[in-house]
Amino acid sequence: MSDTKTPAAELLERLQHKGLRLSATPDGALQVWPAVWLDEATSEAIRAHKPGLLALLSTMAVDVLEDDRHRCRDCYHLQRKGNCAMAAQGRLPGVPEWYTPHKDILQRCNLFCALPY
Ligand code: SF4
Repeated sequence: MSDTKTPAAELLERLQHKGLRLSATPDGALQVWPAVWLDEATSEAIRAHKPGLLALLSTMAVDVLEDDRHRCRDCYHLQRKGNCAMAAQGRLPGVPEWYTPHKDILQRCNLFCALPY
């Protein structure tokens, strides 16, 4: 019998094999991290199969954030200079505007935003 996996399912398997993590947000965005592991070809493949990946992830509750910690280096809000854009806007209580978080430490931050697809 032939393999009945969809292209999106095959892509998801390849991405997970590489160690990439994917999640679907309630508003229909797809988050992939660590962002630093994404090359252009992988990003393009993810964009091309976004609807299929979202559909798969919505049926895979176990795959959604069993560990909800993130690294700032994977966050859209980390600026080139190393500061957090959310802190600069005063949206991270208790830290100064020029807060420069440790980018490699796993932490929970409710303003974390993986690069959207
Ligand atoms: S929003 Fe949170 S996770 Fe993102 S860079 Fe700022 S401190 Fe880090």
